[in-house]
Amino acid sequence: MKKVAIIGAGLAGSEAALVLARKGTQVTLFEARPHKMTPAHTSDMPAELVCSNSFKSQEVPSGHGQLKAELTLLGSPLLSIARQNAVPAGAALAVDREKFAACVNDAILREPGISFDRKECTGIPDGFDYCIIAAGPLASEGLCAFLTNEFSATSLNFYDAIAPIIAADSINYSIAFFASRWEDGEGDYLNCPFNEDEYRTFFNALTEADKVVARKFENEKFFEACLPVEEIASRGYQSLAFGPLRPVGIDDPRTGRWPYAICQLRKETLGGESFNMVGFQTRLTIPEQKRIFRMIPGLENAEFLRYGSIHRNTYIDSPSLLADDLSLKKRPSLFIAGQLCGNEGYTESIATGHLAALFVNNRFENKPLSVPPPVSALGALLNHVTHSPEKPFTPSNVHFGLFPPLELQGRKKIGKKEKKELLCKRATDAFKQWKDALIV
Ligand SMILES: Cc1cc2nc3c(=O)[nH]c(=O)nc-3n(C[C@H](O)[C@H](O)[C@H](O)COP(=O)(O)OP(=O)(O)OC[C@H]3O[C@@H](n4cnc5c(N)ncnc54)[C@H](O)[C@@H]3O)c2cc1C
Repeated sequence: MKKVAIIGAGLAGSEAALVLARKGTQVTLFEARPHKMTPAHTSDMPAELVCSNSFKSQEVPSGHGQLKAELTLLGSPLLSIARQNAVPAGAALAVDREKFAACVNDAILREPGISFDRKECTGIPDGFDYCIIAAGPLASEGLCAFLTNEFSATSLNFYDAIAPIIAADSINYSIAFFASRWEDGEGDYLNCPFNEDEYRTFFNALTEADKVVARKFENEKFFEACLPVEEIASRGYQSLAFGPLRPVGIDDPRTGRWPYAICQLRKETLGGESFNMVGFQTRLTIPEQKRIFRMIPGLENAEFLRYGSIHRNTYIDSPSLLADDLSLKKRPSLFIAGQLCGNEGYTESIATGHLAALFVNNRFENKPLSVPPPVSALGALLNHVTHSPEKPFTPSNVHFGLFPPLELQGRKKIGKKEKKELLCKRATDAFKQWKDALIV
């Protein structure tokens, strides 16, 4: 009997478990919650989304859209569950997080090949052919200590921040209005418009607000794509108006013009009972979040269902430690997947979870290693994780910068749109060939 242990029933671990079990492997999926909670998870459900409810764009041409297209071709179980639980979010794939997690839980429990064991692992469980560690950015201290001792591997000084969620019935709809940028779509976002005076008052309050003090061992280093809103504000007066509060392409129905700035809210649930503050990851103290975010026009009486916060992000130095198939060079029966292996983002964690499962299956079948082509989104992401030359190594989400440059065949210049289309076409063609060869 082929037996695999998976540590962590998050996005990567749940995906890997479902893929392997459906290929006939006996999987034991270990999950530390609810006995040992992380600082960000609030439930005992697998695949809980700890911050935004968005898996980002599913439109091609974009790096995120291309990654989803490739995962769809592979039949990704979690992506399919995400689509079944989607809430309107323009071009993005956003989900009702509770329904999403409940469906992943059902899929795991219904799968005869998976046994779900609620237990914290502080080492590699005995009795398995292979183990995939997918314990995520908030891997338990016991497991981190094991990884540090075994591989001098973990980097524990990197941070992400969570955005607040607001009750829909506490929003002032005489000010906030539904619209999508450039009137594209049906107005999935709720927009809170600022005039310049309101923006100035808000900006001043935000830059002077009290923040949660970092603990002694915490060395604050934020991921650029997930900066706290007050950190962005500290970079200059216009940084919010040109960043998360940019108003471009959104007409305020009361004036017929673009406001000075806009705070966008995205539906958290299909029924629209609650909204996520887009781009408002924060480390402000809770009293300051209440005081300052209620200065946003339309949110004067906001009821916060969840406050923002900051959390540790753990990942290993993958390029030095991992082989091409995500297994440890020093211990080839041990694979690392998800955020812990140095990808960044929900869909990316699903992606490396899926790949780790395929690579483990490859070993069972004694087939030579076949990694997705580097011109594909999956291949480019894997290449970053296993071969990034960056020192020190930092995690990445999928973006066109990871893709090898196009060969322009004599042409000197090419428009941005055409370039993205060509990158995606090249990726899809190569990916399909790779996938077809896998099945043969
Ligand atoms: C605070 C925070 C906010 C984030 N926000 C976003 C966002 O908005 N959008 C985005 O795309 N990405 C975000 N990320 C990044 C990342 O995509 C997510 O964290 C994602 O959930 C990672 O997937 P994963 O499977 O690697 O880990 P997780 O989904 O965290 O799953 C790991 C699982 O392992 C369990 N576990 C931990 N230690 C053990 C152990 N020793 N034994 C057994 N089980 C264990 C945990 O309880 C957890 O269930 C955020 C990360 C953090 C930390």
